[in-house]
Amino acid sequence: MRYSALRILREGLTGNKGWKPVWREPEPKAEYDIVIVGGGGHGLATAYYLAKEFGHKNIAVLEKGWLGSGNIGRNTTIIRSNYMLPGNEPFYEMSLKLWEGLEQDFNYNAMVSQRSILNLYHSDAQRDAFVRRANAMMLAGADAEIADADQLRAELPFLDFDNARFPIKGGLFQRRGGTVRHDAVAWGYARGADARGVDIIQNCEVTGFDIENGHCTGMQTSRGAIRAKKVAVCVAGSSGRVMEKAGMRLPIESHVLQAFVTEGLKPVIPGVITFGAGHFYVSQSDKGGLVFGGDIDGYNSYAQRGNLPVVEDVAEGGMAIMPMIGRARLLRSWGGIMDMSMDGSPFIDKTHVDGLYFNGGWCYGGFKATPASGFCYAHLLARDEPHPVAAQMRLDRFMSGNLIDEKGVGNQPNLH
Ligand SMILES: Cc1cc2nc3c(=O)[nH]c(=O)nc-3n(C[C@H](O)[C@H](O)[C@H](O)COP(=O)(O)OP(=O)(O)OC[C@H]3O[C@@H](n4cnc5c(N)ncnc54)[C@H](O)[C@@H]3O)c2cc1C
Repeated sequence: MRYSALRILREGLTGNKGWKPVWREPEPKAEYDIVIVGGGGHGLATAYYLAKEFGHKNIAVLEKGWLGSGNIGRNTTIIRSNYMLPGNEPFYEMSLKLWEGLEQDFNYNAMVSQRSILNLYHSDAQRDAFVRRANAMMLAGADAEIADADQLRAELPFLDFDNARFPIKGGLFQRRGGTVRHDAVAWGYARGADARGVDIIQNCEVTGFDIENGHCTGMQTSRGAIRAKKVAVCVAGSSGRVMEKAGMRLPIESHVLQAFVTEGLKPVIPGVITFGAGHFYVSQSDKGGLVFGGDIDGYNSYAQRGNLPVVEDVAEGGMAIMPMIGRARLLRSWGGIMDMSMDGSPFIDKTHVDGLYFNGGWCYGGFKATPASGFCYAHLLARDEPHPVAAQMRLDRFMSGNLIDEKGVGNQPNLH
């Protein structure tokens, strides 16, 4: 069923009796060509592009919970491509371009809103670093704009420009950045994949892999054994636990990241704003709530909830750039499990086990990557060679020394 304004009108006039379930609930088959483990944004996008762009039909996505139960339904919805390194920037710019055409592509309203992202700077040295990043972005075909304090005062008068510790001296805008309704992304990709014959199987946990003579032939699940020619793991915060079942230890740690939403307020924040002297980022949802977050909790955990010290830390970051946020009442907060890689960049790669592939290490930036990650993982699975923009996202980069350390902080997950 195609969604359109005409369809809404027709259904409205006929008692809304014609709507169909957005995806089927099939029983798992005994064998597939490709099985994707993990029905988050990246797993569903991979299935969608495999079916749509690479012509594969015999695919399943196995999800241990329900679609949207992981980070795809827990993030703060920010999309952007304001990276600097050649291993990252072309990939994220490809993702942003895919976001720009996504709703038409999968015929689903994901509320893609290019309302801009602004990274504030607070010192001359930080301005120079942002100018360098802006130049790298433009060289990769992205948009970037440096604004000084006077320009920001005119656009965002509520910011605390004269804060004694962290005066705002300007910022780096990416006007094409913004927000997207996160769980609609999962639903849209699921719907598009299902329509092309992909079996999406919820409540199906992968509990082990069948590996014979270095070759993965399938997996054990909570709903029985399933054979597959290729197995593509894509489980974000559960990467360590799942790949351990294949005997692999990853350069990834799992940490909690929290998010917060205030009561609904009148429109005040036009786009996304990030603090440059601490970790705090904020946007305003269409319902009016201020949506914000900051640092990971900083200890290893698989719990989808965080602790109070980070709540205080994030609130301090907010107060430093916009003291009026102290008047807003916090409505709710939650946590997700982050797959923090040791250089802050992801992996889309084959493993040393034939037929077993891995996608993970997205840290807290994997939502914006969803379309490009799905596309590049599908490319790898279909052609057995990496997509050019993801060619550096290899598992062996810690052995070769070709790290993609965007911030230059080394193996410190809390600093990436
Ligand atoms: C609070 C918060 C804020 C964030 N903000 C942003 C942001 O603003 N911008 C941004 O770009 N990124 C953000 N992120 C990061 C982003 O959400 C993640 O990097 C991204 O969603 C991870 O990919 P995914 O959607 O595939 O993960 P998930 O949705 O977590 O998908 C993985 C799935 O695998 C399933 N699974 C696990 N184990 C198994 C198993 N054994 N068998 C079967 N299935 C299994 C899980 O149930 C889960 O559904 C944020 C994350 C959090 C938590």
